[in-house]
Amino acid sequence: MSLEHLLGPHRPLPVRVRPVAGESTGSFVARLARANGLGLAEFLDRVGQGDGSSDPAQVEKYPQYTEMDVNAAGREYLAVLAGRSVELLRWALPSLADHRLLSRAGAGAPVWRWTWKAEGGSPVPWCPLCRCRRGIGDPVWLLSADSWQVCGRHLRWTDDSRGSEPETVDLRALPECVAAQRERRRLEGKFKLAGPELFADACQVMYEWWGYAPDSLVWVQRAWTAGLDARSARAVPLIVLPEAAELAWLMLRFEQAGQRSRGDRARWLAQVQHRADVWDIDFDAGKDALLQWLERHSRSADGAPAGFAGPRRLVLAARHNRIASRVGSLQQRSCMPGDG
Ligand SMILES: [Zn+2]
Repeated sequence: MSLEHLLGPHRPLPVRVRPVAGESTGSFVARLARANGLGLAEFLDRVGQGDGSSDPAQVEKYPQYTEMDVNAAGREYLAVLAGRSVELLRWALPSLADHRLLSRAGAGAPVWRWTWKAEGGSPVPWCPLCRCRRGIGDPVWLLSADSWQVCGRHLRWTDDSRGSEPETVDLRALPECVAAQRERRRLEGKFKLAGPELFADACQVMYEWWGYAPDSLVWVQRAWTAGLDARSARAVPLIVLPEAAELAWLMLRFEQAGQRSRGDRARWLAQVQHRADVWDIDFDAGKDALLQWLERHSRSADGAPAGFAGPRRLVLAARHNRIASRVGSLQQRSCMPGDG
């Protein structure tokens, strides 16, 4: 072990790299290593002890599959090597936030680890046009809670499909998907707690719905427009997005009304049926998923006031909050069972 290994790095590498907001740590260290002509495994050796050094070829592939976590000492070493303050790195790279650090009691030796199931989400490529705009040649991976990202500036869709073609979907030909993403943001901005959870529920319902009616013309056409295989799992989150966003708003209205009797539920279901006719999607294919959602939302949360509880404090039905997680992927945030 070198002296530098024991005492830690004390000066930055010659070429500095600016982190992208929301970037995965793995992506950032891969870019930093490359810019300095180092292999990733070789570079990581300077950050601390880790569990991937024995297979350098594998390590090179990690940034697109998984996220790298470090402990506090590892974060400090990384900041020194990058020539950036810990504050800046912590702000830009979600996995370097204090609560995400690996805890390793004792000597405080620097440690890093590639975690297969990253807490903060999965690596999704950053919009290639944003990358060009910043003059970055290497791939950049964002740590995304969803398995996909929409660039609002360039209207590009990227996802965690890792190397499948096309890498990026141009959404300019799918204005309804762009509008749906905007609607989703509006819902989540207005209802900070309930919004993301209901969007997650709506997505899970729509995914199940698609499973029973994958040949619905509107979905197939969107997939073709996107250049995706209409039957591929990869296409689903994109092609059902317009209906998912609208369904999330319908779910919100149901929760806001706070009226959950059998008759109320039947009335809400009839509303969705009407929308399904407008969407031109077979209602029967989604009925079971909708009924299941209604069943899980049939009782008010304990202590929650009946009826409208104010936009930011809307409390979802009792069973929702017992099952769903506040953070994590769409599937984790939903009360609906997922399959993936
Ligand atoms: Zn962009």
